[in-house]
Amino acid sequence: MPIYNAPTKDIQFVLHDLLKVSEQDIEGFEDLDRDFTGAVVEEAGRIATEVLHPLNVVGDTEGCVMENGVVRTPTGFKEAFEQMKEGGWTAMDCDPDYGGQGLPYVMHTAAQEPFVSANMAFNMYQGLTHGAYSAIYAHGSDEQKQKYLPKMVSCEWTGTMNLTEPHCGTDLGLMRTKAVPNGDGSYKISGQKIFISAGEHDMADNIIHLVLAKIQGGPEGIKGVSLFIVPKFMVNDDGSLGARNGVACGKIEEKMGIHGNSTCVMNYDEATGFLVGEEHKGMRAMFTMMNEARLGVGLQGYAQAESAYQNAVAYANDRLQGRDVTGVKNPDGPADPLIVHPDIRRNLMDQKSFVEGARAFTFWGAYLIDRAHKNQDADADGLISLMTPVIKGFLTDKGFEYATAAQQVYGGHGYIEEWGMSQYARDARIAMIYEGANGIQALDLVGRKLAQDGGKHVMAFFDMVKTFIKENEGNEALKKDFLEPLKAASKDLQAAGMYFMQNATKPNNALSGSYDFMHMMGHVCLGLMWARMAKAAMEALEGGASDTEFYETKIATGRYYMARQLPATSMHLSRINTGGDTVMALEAANF
Ligand SMILES: Cc1cc2nc3c(=O)[nH]c(=O)nc-3n(C[C@H](O)[C@H](O)[C@H](O)COP(=O)(O)OP(=O)(O)OC[C@H]3O[C@@H](n4cnc5c(N)ncnc54)[C@H](O)[C@@H]3O)c2cc1C
Repeated sequence: MPIYNAPTKDIQFVLHDLLKVSEQDIEGFEDLDRDFTGAVVEEAGRIATEVLHPLNVVGDTEGCVMENGVVRTPTGFKEAFEQMKEGGWTAMDCDPDYGGQGLPYVMHTAAQEPFVSANMAFNMYQGLTHGAYSAIYAHGSDEQKQKYLPKMVSCEWTGTMNLTEPHCGTDLGLMRTKAVPNGDGSYKISGQKIFISAGEHDMADNIIHLVLAKIQGGPEGIKGVSLFIVPKFMVNDDGSLGARNGVACGKIEEKMGIHGNSTCVMNYDEATGFLVGEEHKGMRAMFTMMNEARLGVGLQGYAQAESAYQNAVAYANDRLQGRDVTGVKNPDGPADPLIVHPDIRRNLMDQKSFVEGARAFTFWGAYLIDRAHKNQDADADGLISLMTPVIKGFLTDKGFEYATAAQQVYGGHGYIEEWGMSQYARDARIAMIYEGANGIQALDLVGRKLAQDGGKHVMAFFDMVKTFIKENEGNEALKKDFLEPLKAASKDLQAAGMYFMQNATKPNNALSGSYDFMHMMGHVCLGLMWARMAKAAMEALEGGASDTEFYETKIATGRYYMARQLPATSMHLSRINTGGDTVMALEAANF
């Protein structure tokens, strides 16, 4: 049985030593003192460890089952969901007007990490509901908000997002699901959606589907897409449930991982739907919540790697194989533990330095979302918009890479289901695909976000890195190990940006390098996070912090990232500089 312990100290370190949340001039942040966030994170960690984690393997092995149109979630899921609801964990950052607790998004994010690490498939029921809540909250009418949001905040009703159809996932302009006006303000929705997470299950009284569809006679392509609320059960004016709507689950998909989450084919047969926002502006409504949804998926990436890493460390300390080349460490045993070997260390350090950097990057992203929303800060909004594809694409690619790296520590046992390591790899894999496949994130970054507002936000990011380096130049402890590598990596990133500008008229050159650029930018962001974390750890030590081992470990882990991971930027730059010729050299027939 795999283990999981919530890394509460590391979470607190990012919130307080790095982001200094309680000192920020953002509404609601004044309450985020160490004691408060510590209590929330400890309790979230307890639930994650004691309630959700034991159900992770159960969900994987049992999966969801459909019988006579009814989808049954794995044993124990329903009871755990009740506990999440009763504890208010589904309502943390939601508006108090609808029963939420109104806490900052960064606090919600910090509490989410242990839940996702412990049981990603389970947490998606709530995650999807939160996404649907955000879309209705931002674009719904007052009447819709009053009708649906309180029960969605409490998760008595859950939510879904219905975009994908059999013939289109990325190119949603091809969508066929149609909406025909009923004449009373509602619409008849007909069509088929596939791969709908949490589309049908037995944990809520009602399911509020958010569905993209085309109103007949509207513009062609993506410009003709509108967003609709389609409840499973109609909701009467007094809030009670009415007749069953014309939506049904056709089947649940057999899939590689996240077996505990029901992935459904949803058939809409003249189901009654209610327009959210304006006609033909459905994609805009969806995009409003994209930053949050994609940050949530980026979190899934590193949270799975965190869980896998914890198990790999335990195994490396336990498994006896070979002897330490510098001298025997376990003279009473037949061999030394795996952890003595440099190649195992390299692997574990890769995982550890990624996960801790990724946590800082994700929480920083959540803090930017709070700053953008609560302070109407356009610069923070621009910056998080730029960072969103990087958080989603880079952290999920690396999350999967390191989940499999953790599996590698187990040798053959990592491949055997009994040890639980394959589940981490299988579950982490989907995060690279849904919510916009990672190749599309890279396209978004290079094709749209770099040039957004005249390139203002990427310039602001470069300035941020430059300013940090300049302000700390006199800090000898930081200079060689942190500032110099960061400077070199940032120069690589700027050179790649310059290459794209110079090749603006040759799209194949830019788009052949977009994936490398996304990874490069991810490395520079984690490099910046590590330089800042090292500085914070050094200050804590200078300030007489009692837990010297914790802070020294942080600095040493950061040094590793800067020395062994960050130089990847130069390889990515070399690739980008070769342009698209080698990528596009073959005729399609020659593949
Ligand atoms: C388990 C699971 C859960 C899901 N949950 C949901 C959900 O709740 N709601 C929902 O609506 N959908 C959901 N999806 C669907 C998911 O979002 C899509 O599968 C995804 O967006 C990709 O779409 P597609 O599968 O149609 O692939 P395609 O769009 O056919 O793309 C195939 C590949 O081509 C690449 N590609 C496509 N266009 C381009 C281009 N222009 N340039 C370069 N590369 C390109 C893509 O990156 C991808 O790698 C889920 C999928 C799975 C497997």
